[in-house]
Amino acid sequence: MLLERLIIAPCALVLSTGMLVAQVATENIGGPEGLDIYQELTSGEGEEGAAEGAAIWDVNDSLTFIPGYDMYCHWNTDVLFSQLGVAGHLEHDTLKVVLGEHECDLTMPCDGHVTSPYGMRRGRMHYGVDLDLETGDAVMAAFPGMVRISKYNKTFGHVVVVRHFNGLETLYAHLSKRSVEPGTLVEAGDTLGLGGNTGRSYGSHLHFEVRFLDQPIDPALVFDLENGSLRALEFDIHKGTFAKMAAAKVAAQKSQASRKYHVIRRGDTLYALSRRYGVKVQDLCRINGISERSTLAIGQRIRYN
Ligand SMILES: [Zn+2]
Repeated sequence: MLLERLIIAPCALVLSTGMLVAQVATENIGGPEGLDIYQELTSGEGEEGAAEGAAIWDVNDSLTFIPGYDMYCHWNTDVLFSQLGVAGHLEHDTLKVVLGEHECDLTMPCDGHVTSPYGMRRGRMHYGVDLDLETGDAVMAAFPGMVRISKYNKTFGHVVVVRHFNGLETLYAHLSKRSVEPGTLVEAGDTLGLGGNTGRSYGSHLHFEVRFLDQPIDPALVFDLENGSLRALEFDIHKGTFAKMAAAKVAAQKSQASRKYHVIRRGDTLYALSRRYGVKVQDLCRINGISERSTLAIGQRIRYN
């Protein structure tokens, strides 16, 4: 029975290796319907295969399913996000993402408050929010779903990406330890790993992203981050959802292009640069992310506008 419900319109599953592995398909499992199937798989009640439901996902098992596969048509356990945009899906449509049945149907990934919001930061786009934590604090899945990625990445350090049944994906970065593997089924609140300071990170924190079809969404639009609740039970995704991000990206590229730099030579000091370019020392420090006591290295590029 379960098989009939899951295998509706077979399409080929292609792994990151490009190898054709198995015929897997899903019906639309966003929202409560997906949750039902998930609960059947994990509760141990009724259907065959249920007892092993909470075990590691085996991609060769045709009884299993991948959350949101009908939307994504990929299950890449190596590449974090592709640039294949959302455009085709959203040219004319608004997609409704069912977040939960109650406002409390999510778990905040950690207890800490927001230390850095989504948006432009020092001329670059910050695609998630930073949440305060201590190294070793548990980091939890926000919604039920399946782990797509669990790996080490130069930027994100130890990072986990979970594909949820509602089609969203969430990313948890800079972990000190990962405790899940690609294919692990998780409930909201299950521990994915421990918080840390790995990758390009300065101080322990969780970098948390929400994405839909690989495109980043401001987590604050979906969650009330301070109260740990959902903003609404449904979230409408349309072209405009990503417009702000696209506009910010263009602005960032423009500002990047107009930047001016001084290359440090022997004898240069911040005070000399300040006089030469008419920029306050504090401003030089701020835009370059350095302190007044920082030692300048020969050849270092210091931005002065
Ligand atoms: Zn961050």
